[in-house]
Amino acid sequence: MSEAVILPGVEFVAVDHALVPEDVTEFWRVMMARYGTRILDINDPTDLSLIQHGLTHMGITDPTVLQHYAITFGTAIYLPFTPGVAIPNWSLWDQIKTCLHEHFHVARARQYEGVEYNFTYQTNSTSRAYFEGEAYRTQLVLEWRYKQTTSDPEALALRLRAYKCNDADISMVTKILKLSLISIKKGALPDGITQFACDWLDARFAGEEA
Ligand SMILES: [Zn+2]
Repeated sequence: MSEAVILPGVEFVAVDHALVPEDVTEFWRVMMARYGTRILDINDPTDLSLIQHGLTHMGITDPTVLQHYAITFGTAIYLPFTPGVAIPNWSLWDQIKTCLHEHFHVARARQYEGVEYNFTYQTNSTSRAYFEGEAYRTQLVLEWRYKQTTSDPEALALRLRAYKCNDADISMVTKILKLSLISIKKGALPDGITQFACDWLDARFAGEEA
Protein backbone atom coordinates (compact mmCIF):
# COMPACT_ATOMS: atom_id res chain seq x y z
CA MET A 1 0.00 0.00 0.00
CA SER A 2 1.32 3.45 -0.81
CA GLU A 3 0.19 6.98 -0.28
CA ALA A 4 1.26 10.17 -2.04
CA VAL A 5 1.96 13.01 0.34
CA ILE A 6 2.52 16.50 -1.03
CA LEU A 7 4.55 18.87 1.12
CA PRO A 8 5.29 22.49 0.17
CA GLY A 9 7.85 22.31 -2.63
CA VAL A 10 8.49 18.63 -2.08
CA GLU A 11 6.83 15.67 -3.65
CA PHE A 12 6.95 12.54 -1.56
CA VAL A 13 5.70 9.14 -2.41
CA ALA A 14 5.56 7.46 0.95
CA VAL A 15 5.97 3.75 0.56
CA ASP A 16 4.83 1.84 3.56
CA HIS A 17 4.09 -1.43 1.87
CA ALA A 18 6.47 -4.32 2.23
CA LEU A 19 8.39 -5.11 -0.91
CA VAL A 20 7.74 -8.50 -2.41
CA PRO A 21 10.30 -10.47 -4.47
CA GLU A 22 8.36 -9.70 -7.69
CA ASP A 23 8.92 -5.95 -7.15
CA VAL A 24 12.63 -6.63 -7.28
CA THR A 25 12.70 -9.14 -10.15
CA GLU A 26 10.44 -6.90 -12.24
CA PHE A 27 12.53 -3.80 -11.55
CA TRP A 28 15.70 -5.65 -12.54
CA ARG A 29 14.01 -7.05 -15.64
CA VAL A 30 12.85 -3.61 -16.78
CA MET A 31 16.19 -1.93 -16.12
CA MET A 32 18.19 -4.71 -17.78
CA ALA A 33 15.99 -4.57 -20.87
CA ARG A 34 16.23 -0.78 -21.06
CA TYR A 35 20.00 -0.63 -20.66
CA GLY A 36 20.94 -3.90 -22.36
CA THR A 37 22.71 -5.38 -19.36
CA ARG A 38 23.26 -8.91 -18.17
CA ILE A 39 24.16 -10.46 -14.83
CA LEU A 40 27.54 -12.18 -14.67
CA ASP A 41 27.68 -15.83 -13.66
CA ILE A 42 30.61 -16.43 -11.35
CA ASN A 43 30.44 -20.15 -12.18
CA ASP A 44 31.10 -19.40 -15.85
CA PRO A 45 34.87 -19.36 -16.52
CA THR A 46 34.65 -16.52 -19.09
CA ASP A 47 32.60 -14.34 -16.75
CA LEU A 48 34.85 -15.14 -13.82
CA SER A 49 37.95 -14.11 -15.74
CA LEU A 50 36.25 -10.84 -16.75
CA ILE A 51 35.54 -10.15 -13.08
CA GLN A 52 39.09 -11.03 -12.01
CA HIS A 53 40.56 -8.86 -14.76
CA GLY A 54 38.52 -5.85 -13.67
CA LEU A 55 39.44 -6.27 -10.02
CA THR A 56 43.13 -6.55 -10.91
CA HIS A 57 42.94 -3.27 -12.85
CA MET A 58 41.47 -1.62 -9.77
CA GLY A 59 44.27 -3.02 -7.63
CA ILE A 60 41.78 -5.10 -5.63
CA THR A 61 43.28 -8.36 -4.49
CA ASP A 62 40.93 -9.19 -1.61
CA PRO A 63 38.55 -11.85 -3.02
CA THR A 64 36.01 -11.25 -0.21
CA VAL A 65 35.07 -8.00 -1.97
CA LEU A 66 32.81 -10.18 -4.12
CA GLN A 67 30.75 -11.13 -1.09
CA HIS A 68 30.03 -7.54 -0.17
CA TYR A 69 29.90 -5.51 -3.38
CA ALA A 70 28.03 -5.45 -6.64
CA ILE A 71 30.36 -4.40 -9.47
CA THR A 72 29.60 -3.36 -13.04
CA PHE A 73 31.96 -4.08 -15.92
CA GLY A 74 30.69 -2.34 -19.04
CA THR A 75 27.19 -3.75 -19.47
CA ALA A 76 27.87 -6.85 -17.37
CA ILE A 77 26.96 -6.75 -13.68
CA TYR A 78 28.37 -8.91 -10.92
CA LEU A 79 25.95 -9.37 -7.99
CA PRO A 80 26.52 -11.05 -4.62
CA PHE A 81 22.80 -11.93 -4.58
CA THR A 82 20.05 -13.19 -6.86
CA PRO A 83 17.48 -10.45 -7.50
CA GLY A 84 14.31 -11.16 -5.54
CA VAL A 85 16.01 -13.44 -3.02
CA ALA A 86 16.65 -11.56 0.22
CA ILE A 87 19.78 -12.64 2.09
CA PRO A 88 21.65 -11.14 5.06
CA ASN A 89 23.01 -7.69 4.12
CA TRP A 90 21.03 -7.67 0.87
CA SER A 91 17.38 -6.95 1.65
CA LEU A 92 14.88 -6.56 -1.19
CA TRP A 93 15.14 -2.80 -0.73
CA ASP A 94 18.94 -2.97 -0.99
CA GLN A 95 18.51 -4.93 -4.21
CA ILE A 96 16.27 -2.19 -5.67
CA LYS A 97 18.84 0.48 -4.79
CA THR A 98 21.66 -1.64 -6.17
CA CYS A 99 19.81 -2.08 -9.43
CA LEU A 100 19.61 1.66 -9.96
CA HIS A 101 23.19 2.18 -8.76
CA GLU A 102 24.66 -0.34 -11.19
CA HIS A 103 22.54 0.80 -14.11
CA PHE A 104 23.60 4.34 -13.44
CA HIS A 105 27.17 3.18 -14.09
CA VAL A 106 26.07 1.56 -17.32
CA ALA A 107 24.29 4.71 -18.48
CA ARG A 108 27.32 6.86 -17.60
CA ALA A 109 29.69 4.51 -19.39
CA ARG A 110 27.57 4.88 -22.49
CA GLN A 111 27.59 8.65 -22.19
CA TYR A 112 31.37 8.78 -21.83
CA GLU A 113 32.07 6.17 -24.53
CA GLY A 114 32.36 2.80 -22.82
CA VAL A 115 35.99 1.87 -23.27
CA GLU A 116 37.38 5.15 -22.01
CA TYR A 117 34.98 5.20 -19.06
CA ASN A 118 35.84 1.67 -18.04
CA PHE A 119 39.55 2.29 -18.38
CA THR A 120 39.40 5.51 -16.34
CA TYR A 121 37.13 3.90 -13.77
CA GLN A 122 39.41 0.93 -13.32
CA THR A 123 42.78 2.68 -13.33
CA ASN A 124 42.21 6.04 -11.62
CA SER A 125 40.96 6.07 -8.03
CA THR A 126 39.76 9.69 -8.11
CA SER A 127 37.67 9.10 -11.22
CA ARG A 128 36.37 5.92 -9.68
CA ALA A 129 35.41 7.80 -6.53
CA TYR A 130 33.63 10.47 -8.57
CA PHE A 131 31.67 7.92 -10.60
CA GLU A 132 30.77 6.02 -7.42
CA GLY A 133 29.68 9.26 -5.75
CA GLU A 134 27.24 9.88 -8.58
CA ALA A 135 25.89 6.35 -8.29
CA TYR A 136 25.53 6.65 -4.49
CA ARG A 137 23.54 9.80 -5.12
CA THR A 138 20.87 7.73 -6.87
CA GLN A 139 20.57 5.62 -3.72
CA LEU A 140 20.06 8.73 -1.60
CA VAL A 141 17.28 9.80 -3.95
CA LEU A 142 15.47 6.47 -3.53
CA GLU A 143 15.95 6.47 0.23
CA TRP A 144 14.57 9.96 0.59
CA ARG A 145 11.76 9.57 -1.92
CA TYR A 146 10.47 6.26 -0.57
CA LYS A 147 11.61 6.12 3.05
CA GLN A 148 12.11 9.77 4.05
CA THR A 149 15.45 8.91 5.54
CA THR A 150 18.91 8.60 4.01
CA SER A 151 22.19 6.84 4.59
CA ASP A 152 24.98 8.90 6.10
CA PRO A 153 26.97 10.40 3.17
CA GLU A 154 30.25 9.80 4.94
CA ALA A 155 29.45 6.15 5.65
CA LEU A 156 28.62 5.66 1.98
CA ALA A 157 31.83 7.37 0.88
CA LEU A 158 33.87 5.24 3.28
CA ARG A 159 32.75 2.14 1.39
CA LEU A 160 35.14 3.32 -1.31
CA ARG A 161 38.10 2.19 0.77
CA ALA A 162 37.42 -1.31 -0.52
CA TYR A 163 37.66 0.21 -4.02
CA LYS A 164 41.19 1.40 -3.30
CA CYS A 165 40.17 5.05 -3.08
CA ASN A 166 42.28 7.33 -0.88
CA ASP A 167 41.34 9.85 1.84
CA ALA A 168 41.12 12.76 -0.59
CA ASP A 169 38.85 10.73 -2.91
CA ILE A 170 36.61 9.81 0.00
CA SER A 171 36.32 13.33 1.34
CA MET A 172 35.47 14.59 -2.17
CA VAL A 173 32.63 12.04 -2.41
CA THR A 174 31.40 12.90 1.10
CA LYS A 175 31.22 16.56 0.05
CA ILE A 176 29.39 15.79 -3.21
CA LEU A 177 26.83 13.65 -1.39
CA LYS A 178 26.26 16.17 1.39
CA LEU A 179 25.67 18.92 -1.16
CA SER A 180 23.41 16.64 -3.22
CA LEU A 181 21.27 15.89 -0.18
CA ILE A 182 20.16 19.53 -0.04
CA SER A 183 18.46 19.32 -3.44
CA ILE A 184 17.40 15.69 -2.98
CA LYS A 185 15.49 16.69 0.14
CA LYS A 186 13.72 19.31 -1.95
CA GLY A 187 12.53 16.53 -4.26
CA ALA A 188 15.15 16.86 -7.02
CA LEU A 189 15.65 13.94 -9.41
CA PRO A 190 19.19 14.66 -10.58
CA ASP A 191 19.32 12.67 -13.81
CA GLY A 192 17.25 10.88 -16.44
CA ILE A 193 17.90 7.35 -15.26
CA THR A 194 16.87 8.13 -11.67
CA GLN A 195 13.79 9.87 -13.07
CA PHE A 196 12.94 6.78 -15.11
CA ALA A 197 13.45 4.48 -12.10
CA CYS A 198 11.31 6.67 -9.84
CA ASP A 199 8.52 6.89 -12.42
CA TRP A 200 8.50 3.09 -12.65
CA LEU A 201 8.62 2.58 -8.88
CA ASP A 202 5.94 5.24 -8.27
CA ALA A 203 3.63 3.46 -10.70
CA ARG A 204 4.46 0.05 -9.26
CA PHE A 205 3.83 1.07 -5.67
CA ALA A 206 0.70 3.01 -6.57
CA GLY A 207 -0.59 -0.04 -8.47
CA GLU A 208 -0.27 -2.25 -5.42
CA GLU A 209 -2.56 -0.14 -3.30
CA ALA A 210 -5.58 -2.39 -3.70
ZN1 LIG B 1 29.21 1.56 -8.01
